[in-house]
Amino acid sequence: MTTRSINLDDTLYRYLLDVSLRDHPVLAAMRDANRNHPHASMQIAPEQGQFMQLLVRLLGARSTIEIGTFTGYSALAVALALPEDGRVLACDISREYTDEARSWWEKAGVAHKVDLRIAPALETLDALIADGGAGSVDFAFIDADKTGYDAYYERCLVLLRQGGLVAVDNVLWSGKVALAASDADTAALQAFNRKLRDDARIDLSMLPLGDGLTLARKR
Ligand code: CA
Repeated sequence: MTTRSINLDDTLYRYLLDVSLRDHPVLAAMRDANRNHPHASMQIAPEQGQFMQLLVRLLGARSTIEIGTFTGYSALAVALALPEDGRVLACDISREYTDEARSWWEKAGVAHKVDLRIAPALETLDALIADGGAGSVDFAFIDADKTGYDAYYERCLVLLRQGGLVAVDNVLWSGKVALAASDADTAALQAFNRKLRDDARIDLSMLPLGDGLTLARKR
């Protein structure tokens, strides 16, 4: 019996995938194709994608936002879990990566659910707020530049409806957050994590899933 989260070695991790992963063929093909991508570690783990799909369905989400789309794996996972009239507003600054993303969304037949905005995410989010979008979003996923997390989070809290959820990726940062900060990204994540602990606007859970996933539910 243990009172802390279990440590996953390779054998146990393979078991977890073996008995629980319900893979979509296009998600599996994406992981295969991206295995040798120079930034492959920016893609979320398969069990994390499946977990986010469960969250989207639990929330009954229709309106979702993603900050940091990369080659489109997490947006694809979310889009597959959304109803026909559901939308992912996908924010990224890279045309190159998101061109690749769009081809995957098309292969999976969900491209019509993804509204891709190539611009700094803060511009897209601020425009949405100025447009009356406050309180309209069910689910948001933050997975972009770490020094921008705090600003993205604040915008997401405005945009979320009451009871809406923001998921934040890489909050354990390969363990570096528990050590003395050696760079700006680590320092930003440390400050962000501490801020959320005491943030009375949210209900909070930090999960050791993938590279650390924080869930914050807007009160
Ligand atoms: Ca990430």
